[in-house]
Amino acid sequence: MQLIQLNEQTWVIQGGANIGVIAYEGRCLIIDSGMDKDTGRDILKQVKKLGLTPTALLVTHAHADHFGGAHYLVGQTGLQVHATRVEASVMASPILEPLYLFSGAQPPRELQHKFLMAKPSLADVILAGNESVVDQIPVQVIPLPGHSLEQVGVAFGETLFVGDAFLTEDILDKHRIPFYSDVQVGLTTLTTLKMQTGSFKHIVAGHGEIYTATEHANRAINYTMQRLEDILENVRRTLADGTPRSLADILNAVATAQEVTINALPQYVLYQTTVQSALSTLYTQGEVYPLFQDNALLWNRGTKG
Ligand SMILES: [Zn+2]
Repeated sequence: MQLIQLNEQTWVIQGGANIGVIAYEGRCLIIDSGMDKDTGRDILKQVKKLGLTPTALLVTHAHADHFGGAHYLVGQTGLQVHATRVEASVMASPILEPLYLFSGAQPPRELQHKFLMAKPSLADVILAGNESVVDQIPVQVIPLPGHSLEQVGVAFGETLFVGDAFLTEDILDKHRIPFYSDVQVGLTTLTTLKMQTGSFKHIVAGHGEIYTATEHANRAINYTMQRLEDILENVRRTLADGTPRSLADILNAVATAQEVTINALPQYVLYQTTVQSALSTLYTQGEVYPLFQDNALLWNRGTKG
């Protein structure tokens, strides 16, 4: 893991995920904690090198690669964990992530590996998502829902941490169908975020490069938005001939349009969630509706009746 200094009070530890470090008047806030014990240990090592002792951890959202290191960090330092309510629930009961990905049914073992199920960690403080002080540090918590239900970002001075609100272009090109719990809310979040990036010198997303220019950050945001719009359009096209189709058939069509090959259960359920979220979005907008035929749930274009 690589330690990058942004200014006198702010650092990023770059690894599988970007970890934020904020030092302020004897306090030290860590933003996200990486995947597991190993990343937790690395984070602690890097922070100690700076002569700092972590006092708090803020988890942007409860995906295993962002909170998995929390268990270790709490054990070693006793730092206070901050998260919003829904995210804190998943952190407290990590089975919830594979469980919701598998429609609430007991998830198969392929979904119970550390990428989808981290060690549990209890939040000490439940965030409303709009705090202006965390751990006595004047940060601004901002709601960034979409990728995850109650994801938040953190603004401190000239640095903005945004979790996985948007993805870098190369990550999007690799994964093709980004994970979104709510495509519509995600698009709204990104529209708002684009207007805020100009106030910051550094934009730190959950993965990939640190953006030092507004245009670069906004280009990645636009790229993420375009991918979400493309997926909505893929679903519309799949239903355009007026034939009602199942979720499985729609997912198949979207995957083909996005040129991805699905060959693993985790990949399938993650993509399926995004496509389901696209269907929810289009249903809310009156563009598609669910119907039942021969005991099958199908989606049709238009509005019911
Ligand atoms: Zn995530």
